[in-house]
Amino acid sequence: MKDIHNFCAGPSLLPQTVYEQAAHAILNFENTGMSILSISHRSKEFVAVLEEARQLSLALLGLDQKGYVALFLQGGASMEFLRVPYNLMQQKAAYVNTGTWSSKAIEQAQLLGEVQVVASSEDRNFSYIPKNIRVEEAVDYVHFTSNNTIYGTQFYDIPQTKAPLVCDMSSDIYSREFAYDQLDLIYAGAQKNIGSAGVSLIIVKEEILGKTKRVIPQLLDYQEHIAKDSLYHTANVFAVYTCLLNLRWLKQQGGVAAIEQVNNKKAALLYQVIDELDFVSGTAAKEDRSKMNVAFRFKEEQMNRLFDQLCVENQIVNIKGHRSVGGYRASLYNAVSLESVEALTTVLHQMKTLV
Ligand SMILES: *Cc1c(COP(=O)(O)O)cnc(C)c1O
Repeated sequence: MKDIHNFCAGPSLLPQTVYEQAAHAILNFENTGMSILSISHRSKEFVAVLEEARQLSLALLGLDQKGYVALFLQGGASMEFLRVPYNLMQQKAAYVNTGTWSSKAIEQAQLLGEVQVVASSEDRNFSYIPKNIRVEEAVDYVHFTSNNTIYGTQFYDIPQTKAPLVCDMSSDIYSREFAYDQLDLIYAGAQKNIGSAGVSLIIVKEEILGKTKRVIPQLLDYQEHIAKDSLYHTANVFAVYTCLLNLRWLKQQGGVAAIEQVNNKKAALLYQVIDELDFVSGTAAKEDRSKMNVAFRFKEEQMNRLFDQLCVENQIVNIKGHRSVGGYRASLYNAVSLESVEALTTVLHQMKTLV
């Protein structure tokens, strides 16, 4: 497994130690003699896992003791596209449209109220981030997507507003320092920087809830999940456990600030080579480039085949662009090593001598 350079956009690479500990827990979970797959989600062992994961998920973002609650729920980030308006929409919400995932969030919110798209980068195929976003009008909340996994763009400034600020951070949470405490609701599918697929993390400031008069189905109601300590129904026990293992790993690395240094190095190296070589180009506007998902394409179609072949030879996998964009995409999530990025830049340099 070690020699493969896996740039998967999600489910993403996780640290080797996380795989090893998770594998061990399937056979014998913390010396209980039982598999983690076969213990009750209400057992004291699992409740301890869940509570540590909820606590650590907040602490790593500096959000403990600040009125936030963390939930690990099923349904993926896509479920939150719906759950957010159910809980927060009274009449009107503002959305920033920066790509496929934002567009999907907008569609779901429109089922429950009026959506005002206050900024969009659709005019240039979502290749940039709209700047100086300010929402002064009275809206129930403002929603944006901090990192656009498919188009490879990332917010470096947050929208300014007095309304509750909601952010889909599926692909860059825990990858960098950010104005986390200015966000009122953060959600993320776990399968990019948190853990394995099948669970999502929702971090919400409790004071923004309970304002809509809508009848909220229980499974969609954040307050219901909070009241039940994130155990309204059977939790995704194994996925929550991998999240905990990965969050512990992140803490051991020195936390978000420390991993950000590594992530900056990886992204800088790859973008530098992309900028340097004239037969390849990045697809996102330079100032908005994502440090998690690097989207690029070759200027000539026939180079794709050469690149694909070199990737096979060098065990570089899962690097195709999203089917809606084409080209290539290297996802540089927390567990992707600098060595893997170097393997990729070596291939790109090699192509220079072959064309
Ligand atoms: C992957 C992704 C999603 C979708 O997540 P699911 O868990 O598959 O629903 C939503 N938003 C962003 C930003 C993503 O990267």
